[in-house]
Amino acid sequence: MIRIGLGRDIHRLVPGRPFLLAGLELPAERGELGHSDGDVLAHAVTDALLGAAGLGDIGEFFPPEDSAWRDADSMGLLKTTYKKVKDRGWKPVNVDCIVICETPRILPYREPIRDALAAVLELPREAVFVKGKTNEGMGPVGEGLAVEALTVCLLERE
Ligand SMILES: [Zn+2]
Repeated sequence: MIRIGLGRDIHRLVPGRPFLLAGLELPAERGELGHSDGDVLAHAVTDALLGAAGLGDIGEFFPPEDSAWRDADSMGLLKTTYKKVKDRGWKPVNVDCIVICETPRILPYREPIRDALAAVLELPREAVFVKGKTNEGMGPVGEGLAVEALTVCLLERE
């Protein structure tokens, strides 16, 4: 059996916060505002995994109002989620991601970002892809006020 999941997330970008993607800090003047560490890509992948397995969404598993997740390491939350999915017999086949922001450029950091996600999901790098896009200057993302991530994840079970 195979199942597909879709994840989407957006965070405001503000000065004085690190710009995190899959746990890697990219050089940037602004970073994600969030109750957790704000790692927009880790959150989108987490939601895609949960959706594919039919388990719920990130807000149910890690409620923002729960102080336990304040400044939480989102890659740790992804690891916890992956374990839940794996415990139910699911194995990721591949993950494909889009990160949308005006700056920084994603391409120079793409391979380490792929490796970071692949390590958590126990996948080869080839099974994890990350594309950087801009929003062509339009809307809050285009004005540099936000960063958005979209992810699809395929799971299989014997
Ligand atoms: Zn988020």
